Amino acid sequence: MSEPRRSVRDLLRVPAGGTGFDLGAIHPRTTPGLPRAGVVGTDPKAWARARVQEIGVELGRQQEMLFASAKVDPASGRRLLLVLQAMDAGGKDGTIRRVAGTMNPLGLQIRSFGRPTEKELSHHFLWRIRRALPTPGYVGVFNRSHYEDVLVPRVESLVPEHTWRARYDEINEFEQELADGGVTLLKVFLHISYDEQLERLRSRLDDPEKHWKYEPADVDTRARWADYQAAYAEALARCSTSGSPWFVVPANRKWYRDWAVASLLRETFAGMHLTYPAPRFDVDRERRRLLDMRPEPAEV
Ligand code: AMP
Ligand code: MG
Repeated sequence: MSEPRRSVRDLLRVPAGGTGFDLGAIHPRTTPGLPRAGVVGTDPKAWARARVQEIGVELGRQQEMLFASAKVDPASGRRLLLVLQAMDAGGKDGTIRRVAGTMNPLGLQIRSFGRPTEKELSHHFLWRIRRALPTPGYVGVFNRSHYEDVLVPRVESLVPEHTWRARYDEINEFEQELADGGVTLLKVFLHISYDEQLERLRSRLDDPEKHWKYEPADVDTRARWADYQAAYAEALARCSTSGSPWFVVPANRKWYRDWAVASLLRETFAGMHLTYPAPRFDVDRERRRLLDMRPEPAEV
């Protein structure tokens, strides 16, 4: 099966420093990097779903190598952290289920961030984030993140402008600190359109089994769509660095979204150059010890 010529990372990366970045120019229904029709066939959705399963096998192997490496070298601090951001109904939960769900649950640490509690608000905005970082050897997933702190407080004027503006630099420093501590970050914005959000919120209202997912406040947030898009555009531009870039995944089509995020994870793992660690024991000697131990020891 032929692969896309350019990596998905290259296609979806927000340029460092955000030079010339225009979120509005990225169409949420497009499918950058999807192989040509001859490869994908007549049913791109089925193709993408099958491919996600295949990539998932590779992700599981990488995840195991990460876990094994950290076991023999805990000081390296190595771990992978997928940060997911999106507007309401943007597909964060579905991406976690379908893409992170292909990995081994034993090696995953998934955290969601809602409105800060009183206690969280009494601390610096990065306090709750630091406490939720994945353990070395694990793959972490953040369902929302510290980026909420340059979105909601800005749009809802919860803090003065100088406070949220200062956070871009604080976030960049924090992420540099994470990189120094062995954390490989993969920051993904799932980009849906205003119309697609309407469809998804409406389907939550139409289906009694989805009412639990619906929040009346989502409509108030939707009313500020343009403000949120502007806040996202600036956050992505200001906090896309060469060490920790942002990726924008067009996410109206769920099958493309899942394929793109799985591909980004696979490429990110590949860049970590993980290997299975060498044994810290003599394999031949252990094999002899194991096999020579016959017959079954007598019961005491
Ligand atoms: P959900 O992801 O549907 O559970 O919703 C979580 C809600 O918490 C969303 O409306 C987020 O925007 C909001 N939220 C998360 N983090 C923050 C934050 N730091 N400040 C304000 N609101 C936040
Ligand atoms: Mg919600």
